[in-house]
Amino acid sequence: MRRKLVIGNWKMNGNRAANSTLLSGILAGLNDFGADCAVCVPAPYLAQCETQLQGSAVAWGAQDLSVHASGAYTGEVAAAMLVDFGCRYVLCGHSERRAYHHESNELVAQKARAALAAGLTPVVCVGETLEQREAGQTAAVIGAQLQAVLDVLENSELIKIVVAYEPVWAIGTGKTATPQIAQEAHALLRAQLAARDAVAAASMQILYGGSMKPENAKELMAQPDIDGGLIGGAALKAADFLGIIQAV
Ligand code: 13P
Repeated sequence: MRRKLVIGNWKMNGNRAANSTLLSGILAGLNDFGADCAVCVPAPYLAQCETQLQGSAVAWGAQDLSVHASGAYTGEVAAAMLVDFGCRYVLCGHSERRAYHHESNELVAQKARAALAAGLTPVVCVGETLEQREAGQTAAVIGAQLQAVLDVLENSELIKIVVAYEPVWAIGTGKTATPQIAQEAHALLRAQLAARDAVAAASMQILYGGSMKPENAKELMAQPDIDGGLIGGAALKAADFLGIIQAV
């Protein structure tokens, strides 16, 4: 039985005061809901998370990392630095990074490798655009995105990754994938991993992301291959984030 996982992706939002209120609100409302929970925050606020969340049931992580270990890479953040601040997770290949920073499938795969090598759990994000869905390319697109990562990992590493299916057309649009559409994509991703390693496929957490809210979370997470959520907008309000965790 896979444990559910709910991760809040704050994207480029927050400030010290607002973060403090949000994190306190989450901690105050968190009971043993039977789900794992984490926040992925802008790098400058990792220290704040470490201070406020240390010893709690809420893990924290980053939204990106460098493929390089150290050196002359101005503006980059290395995996070891994230570990230094107590991170457990790091997002790899979020669609906003693929779109605005031209991250290729191969680069995302290298980032997942760098994360694993440092002991972090990479949350590998995949998803198709509206044009790709309408052209019937969903399976090919998300299949290629996942395959690039599978190709660079050892079998022993496959059980250590989390995958997030985030259809680009559902992100920040208020337009959620129907539970059937999401389940179909999740099942494809799990089958792809199963072709390589059935045991890893059975235990891999595949999260859904894209306008998930307390109102639609229950039905989405009831799908057999949906193991949690990667939450954007609704992760910025403690009540909404807790509402989603409760829906588990
Ligand atoms: P929204 O929940 O705001 O649609 O964002 C989803 C997302 O991109 C999480 O990574």
